[in-house]
Amino acid sequence: MTSPPPGPGFGPLGELALARGTVDRVTHRRTDKDWIDAAWKDPRTRVLVVANGHALVRDDALVFVSPEQAPAGTRFLLGQDSDGVVYFGVSGPLDPPAGAGASGVAGASGVRVMSLREVGALLSDRDAGLFTHAVALANWHDTHTHCPLDGTPTVPDPAGHSATCPKDGSEHFPRTDPAVIMLVTDPEDRCLLARNAAWPGRRVSILAGFVEPGESAEQAVTREVAEETGITVTNVRYLGSQPWPMPRSLMLGFRADAPAGQVIAVDHEELAEARWFSRADLLAALESGELALPPRVSIARHIIEAWYGGPLPSVWSPPPRS
Ligand SMILES: [Zn+2]
Repeated sequence: MTSPPPGPGFGPLGELALARGTVDRVTHRRTDKDWIDAAWKDPRTRVLVVANGHALVRDDALVFVSPEQAPAGTRFLLGQDSDGVVYFGVSGPLDPPAGAGASGVAGASGVRVMSLREVGALLSDRDAGLFTHAVALANWHDTHTHCPLDGTPTVPDPAGHSATCPKDGSEHFPRTDPAVIMLVTDPEDRCLLARNAAWPGRRVSILAGFVEPGESAEQAVTREVAEETGITVTNVRYLGSQPWPMPRSLMLGFRADAPAGQVIAVDHEELAEARWFSRADLLAALESGELALPPRVSIARHIIEAWYGGPLPSVWSPPPRS
């Protein structure tokens, strides 16, 4: 049994930074303890160490270690590439070379400690997929250590994609929280952008929020836009998705229409301000530095540029470079 060839088939948003990945997840191997043990003993096997959402990066490529070099920590199977090389992740302490700092400062060897958010858009398809998968699983293992039924410490399965309670036998799986993110336009095709109260100064983006239990993604779009801006939307339509394991979201991108004659009423709990932008308004505000958009690693940036019709200037904060 073989898995289908990787390749997400990008929609109208084009290539999303964290929705890439070329390594086969070999899901059929996850219950094969002998295969996993043999892969862990194979010196060709590559291990990505992840600590608090960070990994070691050199020249926009992940730095892997051998199983022998990997630190103690929860281990999980990421997949196998077309050359037969197996990849694991380990949630454990990074071993940065002297001089490398958590701020992305390079050590003497050029190795940096970087977060997925900082480097996700710069990595190759293979590395972006592996880092995203590893961060998602590491975040789950790091925060779900006990059985939710009786509080007993759980035991991860050999592939690290589930965990079992030794007391009651209950099985537990990684959790993904769906969130919607939506670009709303008015009848003049102006786009609704908002500034979150928690963001510094010039940053604006489209609206977003979590899908609640018992709610469809489309219902969440309609509810969140109404809650945050008082705008009623129609014609909610799906664009595409991207994992955002910070710590465990799946971002579902949408467009929606705002019928004429509505007034924005900002919910100041979440937003500092929200207003309509024509394409010319937005470009002028970005070029003058009055406003800044989310980074290219985000689905928000792709949705805004898809509406605009091409690339826009500005980033929130560029990743540290040397
Ligand atoms: Zn239990």
